[in-house]
Amino acid sequence: MNENTSQSQTVLISGGSVAGPALAFWLHRHGFTPTIVERAPELRDGGYAVDFRGEALDVLDRMGLLEEIRALDTEMGDAAMVDAEGRQYATLPAAIFAGDLEVLKGDLTRMLYEITREDVEYVFGDSITSLHQDADGVLVTFEYGTPRRFDLVVGADGLHSRTRALAFGPEEEFVRHLGIYTAIFNLDNYLGLHHTGRLYAVPGKAANIFTARGNTEARAAFHFAAEGLEYDRRDATAHKRIIAERFIGEGWEVPRLLKEMDTAQEFFFDANAQVVMDTWSAGRVVLLGDAGYCAGPTSGRGTSQALIGAYLLAGELAARGGDHTGAFAAYEQQMRPYVAEHQALGRDGAERFFMPAPTQEILDMLAANAPENTRTEPVRLPDYTRADTA
Ligand SMILES: Cc1cc2nc3c(=O)[nH]c(=O)nc-3n(C[C@H](O)[C@H](O)[C@H](O)COP(=O)(O)OP(=O)(O)OC[C@H]3O[C@@H](n4cnc5c(N)ncnc54)[C@H](O)[C@@H]3O)c2cc1C
Repeated sequence: MNENTSQSQTVLISGGSVAGPALAFWLHRHGFTPTIVERAPELRDGGYAVDFRGEALDVLDRMGLLEEIRALDTEMGDAAMVDAEGRQYATLPAAIFAGDLEVLKGDLTRMLYEITREDVEYVFGDSITSLHQDADGVLVTFEYGTPRRFDLVVGADGLHSRTRALAFGPEEEFVRHLGIYTAIFNLDNYLGLHHTGRLYAVPGKAANIFTARGNTEARAAFHFAAEGLEYDRRDATAHKRIIAERFIGEGWEVPRLLKEMDTAQEFFFDANAQVVMDTWSAGRVVLLGDAGYCAGPTSGRGTSQALIGAYLLAGELAARGGDHTGAFAAYEQQMRPYVAEHQALGRDGAERFFMPAPTQEILDMLAANAPENTRTEPVRLPDYTRADTA
């Protein structure tokens, strides 16, 4: 590889959640100079649980994080499907929802931050406002910071990526709604559950509670079926009102959960959606993770995609001496079949999300046919260590 080229290359990464810091880790390892700009004023703790599957565990291992992550595993066991009176009518096998390893997303982000903070410049509380590419680089302006030039820009800023909007076009062109809205919030483990959860489902609506952090906390979720609602994405009060209107009058623990939601410190609400694009790069700008190919929460593969995408993108840039055109093409070529399979999973999952009270037979069948047993598109993780400049 041409070490001088790659060593001098500066890379701005928009988004400091999973894909962004993972990419920064590998870029630094390969001799690049990454900077992360993250809109949130500080690291976000907690959040919902995310899981890792298959090759993503290899990436964590190569990052030296696997054991640390295993120590944070939620160790989720099977959960119970309950009726309006709280009576269990079926067992939901953990194989369906908890992956090979499951942690709180905030814990993962913190870990990625801790292993990169010494080597990577982090700018919190700011956001890209414009990108101007020329033959030698990209001039970037920010909401607050002064304009800067970078050799490359990576959009790892999630489903509603601003990088994507600036470099490729408006969100409506790429984001496909899966017909489900989800709210998730934190609360005490007031039911005294032990590494498990309870799920309540009626046509078009579902609510659940799962334990977190060694049963000291819990996370609850509301899901409902709807097409394209109009609301302000930043207005949590409006989101809570939408949920309350949908779930008022429902049985089981729903009245208590609605009250808990009102005072929750952490609250998330969004449409379940996918990002579908013909290409993930435009000149010196490339997309990574949910920003470019979100598969939707019902795929359960978004975190794995973000980690694997980061590994491949950084590795291809290193292996090609910083030739971004060739590297972006190779990254995309390797990721495409893997993403296509996950997006199909995400769509299937969304379609059967609100199936009427599933019988034990159906749940057992779903667990036996968990995608890990039937997948056809494993992704190859080349060894890029020979490309290291360190
Ligand atoms: C409810 C729910 C449940 C999920 N469950 C699972 C699961 O079980 N397993 C799994 O693998 N995946 C799951 N996912 C998906 C997973 O969370 C994502 O796929 C994964 O987090 C993608 O990582 P990312 O870094 O690409 O994007 P994100 O995690 O979305 O991070 C984007 C980052 O960019 C920042 N940002 C946004 N806009 C800007 C801006 N303009 N400027 C700067 N920064 C910006 C955000 O603050 C955020 O930090 C779930 C998702 C949801 C919504």
